Amino acid sequence: MVKPGLAIHGGKPVREQYLPYGKQSIDDEDIQTVINVLKGDFITTGPTINQFEEKVAAYVGAKYAVAFSSGTAALHGACFAAGISDGDEVITTPMTFVASANSILYQGGVPVFSDIDPHTYNIDPESIKQKITSKTKAIIPVHFTGQPVELDEILKIAQDYNLIIIEDAAHALGATYKDRKIGSIGDMTMFSFHPVKHITTGEGGIITTNNEAYYQKLLQFRTHGITRDSNKLLKNHGSWYYEMQTLGYNYRITDFQAALGLSQLQKLDSFISKRKQYVAMYQEELKELPEIIVPKQLNYVNSSWHLYIIRLNLSLLKVDRREIFQALQKENIGVNVHYIPVHLQPYYQKLNYQKGICPKTEKLYEEIITLPLFSSMSKKDVNDVIQAVKK
Ligand SMILES: *Cc1c(COP(=O)(O)O)cnc(C)c1O
Repeated sequence: MVKPGLAIHGGKPVREQYLPYGKQSIDDEDIQTVINVLKGDFITTGPTINQFEEKVAAYVGAKYAVAFSSGTAALHGACFAAGISDGDEVITTPMTFVASANSILYQGGVPVFSDIDPHTYNIDPESIKQKITSKTKAIIPVHFTGQPVELDEILKIAQDYNLIIIEDAAHALGATYKDRKIGSIGDMTMFSFHPVKHITTGEGGIITTNNEAYYQKLLQFRTHGITRDSNKLLKNHGSWYYEMQTLGYNYRITDFQAALGLSQLQKLDSFISKRKQYVAMYQEELKELPEIIVPKQLNYVNSSWHLYIIRLNLSLLKVDRREIFQALQKENIGVNVHYIPVHLQPYYQKLNYQKGICPKTEKLYEEIITLPLFSSMSKKDVNDVIQAVKK
């Protein structure tokens, strides 16, 4: 409800047509690549999956990559490969999509939430240290919005306490930390190919790693825990023989999805440069508004800009976030909120996570709005958003 005397609504909307906050960019070349695979012999497990994995590994500078049916399945695989099991604690951030923490639960682990740095909104290494116990086994940092976390500090903590780092880089394909590509640094790194992410396979995800043992475990986990590798078989009845050696899942991606991913990957750098160009426009125009805090960029990282999030300076505003959100929607701007802190979700509340355990995250949540950002939007779209925000 708009309070009397406030004219934040009204008049003709800035846009006639609704602008979503994120969207895929698929061209005829992508479509043709998929058609070619559909006309071939393999539509599920086929040679294109390997090609896609090799290209992603090469792009990020990792030795191995294993593609999965979703980013969530990939994270689950990483938790399995890391040996997370009943009662193991894994530290992550609540300022993320629920999948980051759910992947820990799938393995019987216990998500432990660390608070964020209020400037970058990324997990705070100091808070990680405070949450470590004798049961801590791994850390899942999330490169929130595409801006890499303080990896050197987190790697140091991992070394000191013998912890495994699984990076949730769903937002950070193409991002760099001190000139190193995300995906080549931690023990395992997950990327997602959901349509709002940088490149898409419809649904899909991948783990990159430099560790051969993790690589082998991921391959087996992706397909029911089954192996046909004669070096790994305990017995061998003949050439038909395979063994299920662990409980895995059917988490395979299809060959035609991999074809889409392969084609999309060629455009990744141009997609990212579009995003950067649009972010520069937002930053330039919005930084002058005292009511808005624009994202802070660290100078030793290179964000891949998955999301552009403004923070409201509520003390200067007579309305709350909900009203501004609704007003922007009335202007046909597809705003969103990333994220509702995971520990506040009803399921996590039932698991006894208390409100108040991550006060900086909870405060941030009250103040943020995600503005549209995707490579196939136009400069005019960006200017419409700016105009609507100013209005
Ligand atoms: C998208 C996303 C995931 C999950 O990826 P899916 O491919 O949708 O399963 C996990 N973590 C974060 C931070 C994400 O944004």
